[in-house]
Amino acid sequence: MIYPEGEKILRKKCTPVKRVRQEARQLAQDLVDTLNAHPEGIGLAAPQIGAQQRIVVVRLGGGSDSEQEPGPPLPLIDPKIVEAGDEKPDFDGCLSLPGLYGKTVRPHHLRITGLYSNGRAFDRVFDGFDAVVVHHELDHLDGVLFIDRISRLEDLYRVQEDEHGEPVRVPLTSLTQV
Ligand SMILES: [Zn+2]
Repeated sequence: MIYPEGEKILRKKCTPVKRVRQEARQLAQDLVDTLNAHPEGIGLAAPQIGAQQRIVVVRLGGGSDSEQEPGPPLPLIDPKIVEAGDEKPDFDGCLSLPGLYGKTVRPHHLRITGLYSNGRAFDRVFDGFDAVVVHHELDHLDGVLFIDRISRLEDLYRVQEDEHGEPVRVPLTSLTQV
């Protein structure tokens, strides 16, 4: 189950894992399984499945500029930003806010350190839309949702089907619709 916006845990700051033991490995696997069950999703963070731990999963290589399907969910434990740059607007959505999309400004270059689910340390660079996905998921670990990064109502919209079954953007006319 994915916790929807409004659940208190989505607004909490998550706790570092520090050492990868069975419990953290299991949580990482639960995140992988949950994201695999939602093929429309490209990232998921522990609080979205009710766990207050600093673990996220991301599917890399996606985005509107990519021809390929994004890769399998990759767990990142205790991810920490050590370098961020190339801030520009991109599209944002969230499995905790189904059907809602928006234009947010995020770094398109990130250097992140952390641990893989096998306990090995990593230090790697994410560029382009991958950086957007990683940044969105890291926000979740500090209780931040993408709607917090929307500066104007016009930047928020829903995607619905029109009478021909084609997806169309429907702008929101008031924030109470969020
Ligand atoms: Zn999200």
